[in-house]
Formats: sequence, C-alpha cells, structure tokens
Amino acid sequence: MKARAFDYVRPQTVGDALRVFDDAGGDAAYIAGGQSLVPALALRLQAPAVLIDIARLEELHGISLEDGWLRIGAATRHVEILTSDLVARHAPLLAKAAPFVAHPAIRNKGTFGGSLALADPASEFPAMALALDADIEIASTEGDRRVAAEDFFLGLYETALQPGEMIRAVRVPIATASSRCAFDELSRRRGDYALVGCGVNVQLAESRVDSVRIAFLSVGSMPMRATTAESALVGHPLTRDQIRVAQDALACDLDPPGDEHVPAEMRLHLARVLLGRLLGGLETVA
Ligand SMILES: Cc1cc2nc3c(=O)[nH]c(=O)nc-3n(C[C@H](O)[C@H](O)[C@H](O)COP(=O)(O)OP(=O)(O)OC[C@H]3O[C@@H](n4cnc5c(N)ncnc54)[C@H](O)[C@@H]3O)c2cc1C
Repeated sequence: MKARAFDYVRPQTVGDALRVFDDAGGDAAYIAGGQSLVPALALRLQAPAVLIDIARLEELHGISLEDGWLRIGAATRHVEILTSDLVARHAPLLAKAAPFVAHPAIRNKGTFGGSLALADPASEFPAMALALDADIEIASTEGDRRVAAEDFFLGLYETALQPGEMIRAVRVPIATASSRCAFDELSRRRGDYALVGCGVNVQLAESRVDSVRIAFLSVGSMPMRATTAESALVGHPLTRDQIRVAQDALACDLDPPGDEHVPAEMRLHLARVLLGRLLGGLETVA
C-alpha cells in the first residue's frame, strides 16, 4: 500500500507550523521523527492532505534546567535522552528507560514529543512522564497551556491534545538527593514492545517512603499509575514485607487485558514480579 498524495511543508517557527495546520482546515498532521506516522501513512491509517515537518524547529529542541524543572524540547530525539548528562543527573528515570525504547535506528529519529503525542500504551516515555509527574507544554494558535501528564493521557492513543495543538516541551520535576528510581520491563526479545514495563519514582525521608509514583506500560489502554500500591508504601521503610503488601495491592490497580500470547492473569503476575524486583533494588532495610 502507498500513502495518499500529500503536500509537504517545513515551517521555520512553531507559530508558522500552527498556522499551516489551521489553514489546512485540520486535514494535516505534524511529523517529527516519522517512526510511527510514516508506517501509519503507508497503511492509510492516517491520510492527511498536508504534512507539517516540525523535526528541525529550533524552538522544539534543547534540554535545559528552568525553575526547578528539567525542560525537554518536544523534538528531542530518544538518543539524546539516552546520552544527555542533564537527563542522567536530573531525570534519571528517563535515562534508565531510554535504552528499552525500540532500536538504535528508531532512537536516532523518534522524538520525545512524538512518543507522548502518540500515547502508545506500550511505550516507555508516556508511562515515565506519568511516574515523574511531568507537565506537558502545549502550543496552539490560541496560546500556550500546560497539562499534567496525569490529565494528558485519556485512553488508547488518545490525549488531551486538541486538533492543531502541538507539544512544545515537557517539564520534569528534577530529582533530589532523596529521590530513588528504577525502571525495567519484560519482553520476549530486547527491543520488542514490552509485555509489561514499570517505572518507580520514590522520595525518601529518613529511610521511609515520603511519596512514590509507580507507572506501568503495556497493562491497559494507556499508561497506568498503581495508586493503591503507592499508598501501601507511603510512610514505611522499603522492607521485603512492605514490598509484598504493595505487590498484592496491584490487583486493585491493574486489570490488564489478555490476548492469545499473554493471558490477563499472566500479565498481572508479571507486573507483580516486576514491581517486586524494582522496589527490592531500592530496599532501605534488609
Ligand atoms: C519498529 C519500531 C519499534 C518501536 N519500538 C518502540 C518501543 O519499544 N518503545 C517505544 O516507546 N516506541 C517504539 N517505537 C515508536 C518510536 O519510538 C517513536 O517514539 C514514535 O514513533 C513517535 O515518535 P516520532 O517522533 O517518530 O513521531 P511521528 O511518527 O513523527 O508522529 C507520531 C504522532 O505524533 C504526532 N506528533 C509528533 N510530534 C508531535 C508534537 N510535538 N506535537 C503534537 N503531535 C506530535 C504526529 O502528528 C503523529 O500523529 C517503535 C517504532 C518502530 C517503527
């Protein structure tokens, strides 16, 4: 199959890109890394009349510290997340998740903003945005707005983005001396989409859990937080017993789908195992 014929535009500014989208009457799509959009065009799952290339827009690039946040431009490529010193120091959970995103060729083109906009429930970065309590900066012809990751992911490939809106950047609260984090996923082969993946972001206060965010990928129609498991940990040291309580609580948080390869019970079991491993690695008391 071939893509529908389309016009290709490469604007010089975010403002121009937004106006081109408006002028196309909504029959347009932004293209960043193209790693998901190009296959979708080829299969005619999407068939916009105009493709607006935003990959080289200067305003969408750069990783910087701003007012207690790590600000990551939407067109930052996955490989840059993987290799950035700023990300490793201030948002280590992203650095830990990045090697699990696809393969080097895809990481060289795919973008952070593209991954969040696509909102694939099996993707690592949307779930980690949730675990990190990130804010999404959204640009439109009406002006900019900010949406918490919590309110951004709405369903299967569905986000709070309105037609024509563009992710400009993502803001991640910076890690502190009392932050601990861990990421892992289980997949059939390295580089495959995960059967289950999980990121844990803990704030400790004198060896006890002060706050924690646990986010899973591949367990439902969108990235999922495990809030009952989180509540089971707050106020306690990370002991083996307490970790077991949190693992048990996952049954209240997750209701994963089954398919012919992975029944729902197995997916829940894998989530439980994964959480145990991740929290076990952060144990504060033996
Ligand atoms: C073989 C293969 C394996 C993969 N494996 C993984 C994996 O294991 N884990 C994983 O997380 N991902 C995986 N991916 C997806 C890839 O990593 C990219 O993250 C993903 O394709 C989206 O990023 P992109 O920049 O390529 O977006 P594009 O393909 O350019 O766009 C995707 C969608 O987002 C929209 N969009 C893009 N940027 C913006 C923006 N700034 N604002 C608003 N809308 C925007 C586009 O209009 C489009 O609808 C895989 C892809 C392939 C082809």
